[in-house]
Amino acid sequence: MAKRDYYEVLGITKSASKEEIKKAYRKLALKYHPDKNKGDKGAEEKFKEGSEAYHVLSDDKRKANYDQFGHAAFQGGGTGQSGFGNFDFSSSFSDIFEDVFSDFGFGSSGQSRRGRRNYRGNDLRYDVSIDLNDAFTGKEEKINYTTYKKCKTCSGSGAKSGSKPSACNYCGGQGKVRSNQGFFTIQQTCPECSGEGEKIDNPCNNCGGAGKTQSNENVSVKIPKGVDDGTRIRIAGKGEAGTKGGSNGDLYLFVSVEPHDIFKRSEENLFYELPVSFADAALGATVEVPSIDGGKTKIKIPSGTQSGKQLRLRGKGMPILKRNLFGDLYIRVVTEVPTSLTKRQKEILSEFKNLEDNKSNPLIKNFFDKAKKFWKR
Ligand SMILES: [Zn+2]
Ligand SMILES: [Zn+2]
Repeated sequence: MAKRDYYEVLGITKSASKEEIKKAYRKLALKYHPDKNKGDKGAEEKFKEGSEAYHVLSDDKRKANYDQFGHAAFQGGGTGQSGFGNFDFSSSFSDIFEDVFSDFGFGSSGQSRRGRRNYRGNDLRYDVSIDLNDAFTGKEEKINYTTYKKCKTCSGSGAKSGSKPSACNYCGGQGKVRSNQGFFTIQQTCPECSGEGEKIDNPCNNCGGAGKTQSNENVSVKIPKGVDDGTRIRIAGKGEAGTKGGSNGDLYLFVSVEPHDIFKRSEENLFYELPVSFADAALGATVEVPSIDGGKTKIKIPSGTQSGKQLRLRGKGMPILKRNLFGDLYIRVVTEVPTSLTKRQKEILSEFKNLEDNKSNPLIKNFFDKAKKFWKR
């Protein structure tokens, strides 16, 4: 029998779009699918013919070859420059099939492309907010959350006590339907059991057949010292229960660290601005300043410290996660210009002003020397 034209097989014209080709094959495959036409040789032939046509026309390169050379493009055992020789349909057929039916409601919802449904439980997310002191010391956080746990009544099987889920008749418990049709192997998710492989005839009263029930959980989580805003902590196995022997999901703690009144953080280092009176900045002073461990640290402000000067206290920053090291604390000195002066203070400052000379304010002298030159131009 002479090979029919692929376009004729699918009942389309040469100008058909990809979508139209797909649609035409879908229609044909549904009509002649071997599962629907058991023992009907004619249907099987039509199905094979259609699948081959779709295999060629759905691929741009193959389609171009076919359009140019016709069936000759694919004959001759691969000797032709553009031929694909003895193409093994059996290995690619399930791909063709899934490609066409994946958006067609034919089975595979919530399932990986191949194989059985994934029975691992869902992961859960819990947001927790701590302050910077807790991030410094670490914290034991008690968490209360709602999750799904394995049903105690049926031990997760979903079946009423005394009964068991029965293997799906349609797929023999495989969850997949495979059939060998000549050189085709067709595999699809079992439409009867949606890939579960079994059916629950008498559902458990407690969980309604789901195998899990909602429950309130308390977990104590150790938040390690050094956590930063956005740190994610995984608590393995504390997510929702899996079903049918699947493992539990995980619980993820998303930590946010609240901004602090004094300390600003950048990774392991801390910063703040220290206001210093202009008298202290000029004369020099020793000041007690706070550190994140809650203590006081004495620092020396040298005489003549300018505003903006930065001091570093080594090891007074945040702990570095999982390492026995600490960042540094940077203190930026800002001189505060006094306001709300008393009469006496004003008198003293006026006197001070009269005693000021160029030597004590070199920056001012320097600037106005330049300005004078500029004005003279
Ligand atoms: Zn149950
Ligand atoms: Zn089944």
